[in-house]
Amino acid sequence: EKRTKILDILQSGEVGTSALVKGWVRTKRQNKNVAFIALNDGSTINNLQLVADPNLIDEALLKASTTGACLAATGELVASQGSGQNVELIVKTLEVLGEADPEKYPLQPKKHSMEFLREIAYLRPRTNTFGAIFRIRHAMIFAVHNFFNQKGFVNVHTPIITASDAEGAGETFKVTTLDLNNVPKTEEGAVDHSQDFFEKETNLTVSGQLEGELAAMALGQIYTFGPTFRAENSNTTRHLAEFWMIEPEMAFADLDDDADLAEEMLQYLVGYALEHCADDLQFLHDREVEENKNKKETERPELYLLDRLKFVVENDFERVTYTEAIQVLRNSKPNKKKKFKYLIDEWGADLQSEHERYLVEKHYKKPVILTDYPKDIKAFYMRQNDDGKTVAAMDILFPGIGEIVGGSQREERLDKLEQRMDEMGVPKEELWWYLDTRRFGSAPHSGFGLGFERMILFVTGMTNIRDVIPFPRTPGNAEF
Ligand code: ATP
Ligand code: MG
Ligand code: MG
Ligand code: MG
Repeated sequence: EKRTKILDILQSGEVGTSALVKGWVRTKRQNKNVAFIALNDGSTINNLQLVADPNLIDEALLKASTTGACLAATGELVASQGSGQNVELIVKTLEVLGEADPEKYPLQPKKHSMEFLREIAYLRPRTNTFGAIFRIRHAMIFAVHNFFNQKGFVNVHTPIITASDAEGAGETFKVTTLDLNNVPKTEEGAVDHSQDFFEKETNLTVSGQLEGELAAMALGQIYTFGPTFRAENSNTTRHLAEFWMIEPEMAFADLDDDADLAEEMLQYLVGYALEHCADDLQFLHDREVEENKNKKETERPELYLLDRLKFVVENDFERVTYTEAIQVLRNSKPNKKKKFKYLIDEWGADLQSEHERYLVEKHYKKPVILTDYPKDIKAFYMRQNDDGKTVAAMDILFPGIGEIVGGSQREERLDKLEQRMDEMGVPKEELWWYLDTRRFGSAPHSGFGLGFERMILFVTGMTNIRDVIPFPRTPGNAEF
C-alpha cells in the first residue's frame, strides 16, 4: 500500500476508503476510550486527525506516539465533526517509525519564541509557522521561473567562484586552496596567488550582474537566480551573509522598461502567492492579527498581511526621483522629535532604511520606485544622465523592508564607462572582458537585482530575514 499525502486526503479523501499516512505527531489527547493524534506530514499546514481506540491499538505504541514522534498509520476515512477538516482516520494499524523522547524533544506543543526557534533552526520546519514559510518560499521560487519563462527570458547560471568583486565593496569571502598556515609569498612578500587553484585571487560572488550583462548582450533577455555572498556586518534584520538574488538583464531597454519589468514581476509574485498559498497565508495572517491583539491602536499595522499583499497587487507603485525624495525628507516630521536618527541635509547623501521606510509607510503609503540617484553613491556601471550629476538608477522600496530591488540602466558607452572607472578607481585591466562588450556591438541595456529573502519577508510578513531562509548564515552562525 502506498502512502497518501495528508494534503490529498484533506482535499479529496473519500469517506469509507482506506489509507496509509505517515507524518509527525503534533499533539495527542487520550482518555480511557479514545486517543486523538494530530498528524502533520509537511504537505499542508493542516493536520489529519487520527482516532485510535486504546482497546484495539497496542498500549505501548500509543504511549510512544508523543509530540515529535514519526508514525505510519492505516485505517478508514470517516466524516469528521472537527472544524476545518472533512475527514479523519480511524486507526487500524499503527507503527512508530521514530520516537521522540518527550523529556528531550525541544518542540513541545506551546508557542515558542522566534529567537528560541532560530537556535534550533534544523527542527523549526516542523512548526506551523515555518512549515508555512518554507512552502511559500518554494512557491515563490517556482513563480520566479514561471514569470521569466512566460516572458521569454533565458535563465543563466553565473559563476559562484569569481575573480571579480562586482561592486568593489570589499565584502567578499575569499576562496583559496592555499595552506593558510604556510602561505606562499612573492618576492615582495605578498601572498602568491599564482600558486593558488585558479592561479589568481578569487572570492564567492557578490552579484551575478556583470556576467549577466555579457549573457544579455547575446541572448537579449536573461535572468539569473543564484546564491550571493557578502561578508558584511549582517547583524541587521535585513542582511544575510548568504542570500539568493534574482537578476534579470535586458538588451535594448532603458530605465523605464526596467522599472516596468520590476513592478510587473513583484506584483506577479505576490499575486501568485495569494492564488497558490491561500492556507499558509491565511495562517500567517491570523497569527499576525493574534500577535497584535493586545497592542495599542497606534502600534498595530494599518493593514494585516493579506490586505497588504492585495494592496501591492492592486495599486501602481509611486515613481519618484531621488531629488524629489530628498525634498520630502527635508520637510518631514517622522516622529515627535521631528527628526531622523540619521539626518538628510545635503543633496547627495545616501538614504538609510529609516528614510526609505518613511517614504513608503508614512508619505506615499505605497511601494516607491526611486530613480536618478547621485552618481557618487552608486556603482561605476550605472548610466550617467545628461545633468552630469545623477545616474539612471532605481531602488524599489517596500513597506516594512525598505530596499527590496536595486537596478539601473547600464553605461553602454565605452568612453563614459572608462572615465567613470578611472574616477572611482575601478581596475580596468581586471575587467577587460566586461569592457569588451562595449567595444564589440555595444547596446543600451538595463537590469536589476531582487533580494529573494526580502521578497519572502514581505510575502510572509516576517520581520527578521533569518526566519525566511532554512539555514541562515550570519556572523558566527554556520553550524547547521
Ligand atoms: P542594502 O542597501 O539593503 O544593504 P544593497 O544596496 O547593498 O542593499 P544591492 O547590491 O543593490 O544591495 O543588491 C540588490 C538587492 O539584494 C538589494 O536590493 C536587496 O534586496 C538584496 N540584498 C543586498 N544585500 C543583502 C543581504 N546582505 N542579505 C539579503 N539581501 C540582500
Ligand atoms: Mg548593502
Ligand atoms: Mg542600498
Ligand atoms: Mg542597492
